[in-house]
Amino acid sequence: MILPLSVVSAATPPATPPPPLPPPPLLWQELGLERTLEQALPELVLLRRHLHRHPELSGHEQQTAALVAGELRRWGWQVREGVGRTGVLAELGPADGPLVALRCDMDALPIEERTGLDYASSRQGLMHACGHDIHTVVGLGVAQLLASVRERLTARVRLLFQPAEETAEGAAWMKADGAMEGVQALFGVHVFPSLAVGTVGVRSGSFTAAAGELEVEVLGEGGHGARPHQSTDAIWIAARVVSGLQEAISRRLDALHPVVVSFGRIEGGKAFNVIADHVRLLGTVRCLDLELHAQLPAWIEETVQALCQGLGGAARVRYRMISPPVHNDPALTALVADAACDLLGRGQVQWLEQPSLGAEDFAELLEDTRGTMFRLGVAGPQGCTPLHSNTFRPDEGCLAVGVQVLTLSLLRWMEHPV
Ligand SMILES: [Zn+2]
Ligand SMILES: [Zn+2]
Repeated sequence: MILPLSVVSAATPPATPPPPLPPPPLLWQELGLERTLEQALPELVLLRRHLHRHPELSGHEQQTAALVAGELRRWGWQVREGVGRTGVLAELGPADGPLVALRCDMDALPIEERTGLDYASSRQGLMHACGHDIHTVVGLGVAQLLASVRERLTARVRLLFQPAEETAEGAAWMKADGAMEGVQALFGVHVFPSLAVGTVGVRSGSFTAAAGELEVEVLGEGGHGARPHQSTDAIWIAARVVSGLQEAISRRLDALHPVVVSFGRIEGGKAFNVIADHVRLLGTVRCLDLELHAQLPAWIEETVQALCQGLGGAARVRYRMISPPVHNDPALTALVADAACDLLGRGQVQWLEQPSLGAEDFAELLEDTRGTMFRLGVAGPQGCTPLHSNTFRPDEGCLAVGVQVLTLSLLRWMEHPV
């Protein structure tokens, strides 16, 4: 048995006991990693709770980064701080060996936490609601395990503790500071509330979507609410833009290549009886196909202009590419899947049928390097609310699973770099 999940779980014990674990993989046994992780876990749980209590917004991860750097130095890693602004980069292993990397993100969200946990966020309006506190601590667990077998490392391992994933800026910041130079394979992880704790989800190829940020300004002409015919009502036109874009997607784009446009913010108007002359719509665009994504800004602009002009108004449209899609390398994905099967049992590894329309700036790091990212199950016996919800409460049993799967994946990559 590798680890009883209840040792690290803050939740009540599962109603049904987890399936028996397979015997530990030989390499795992030989290196004594089972015992090392067992000893490390209580501290990892405390670290995670500390981070959860002290979330920091994207680009402002100073305290988190300082804590991470301190822990890494404690385990003998060579650490560079301030890589990609508040990012931390650490290396261990032979300088002349092949180079493999793991990326973990560190930032929190502007959300007011409502979990009621005794280690809930102490910072008003800030919360680790996407599990990046888990990712950071999983990375620290991997660092500790690898440090315990440093003389056996046959490749150099680089850890990227990345800031600002939520704003899709941090990966580019770290890359610009050379964090991906020389990296031959990159691993990543994200918690996943639809999967039970103790399980992981893997997928080859398309994994997450390309994403963009869309801003539409609808320009009309103000007037008296009693006499709309003497003005150009920007609110009416904006409403038509919101629904018209959805209709155009279903009539003008190939349904076999899904495109999602969601407006999350709408601003306009001054008074109940005044026709608004200006409305601003802010939204996000997702699709899985990079080529199609490249064509979307022009298509959206044309569609929005036609809708506005047809109703007597005008529009200004701005589009910002946020992130390309994540494409998981098949060989590296198979390596992670095999490691997870050997550690957790075949039944605990799910091959995901569908990609996600969520976005991940991990994709930015994959532009010149092969890599793979997997989903880490975090749902406890009572399930788990979605990512970015103010009641998001992952089961901490996932920490051990994440550390195990990533550590073994890195060690196996060293044995046979694929
Ligand atoms: Zn998120
Ligand atoms: Zn996230």
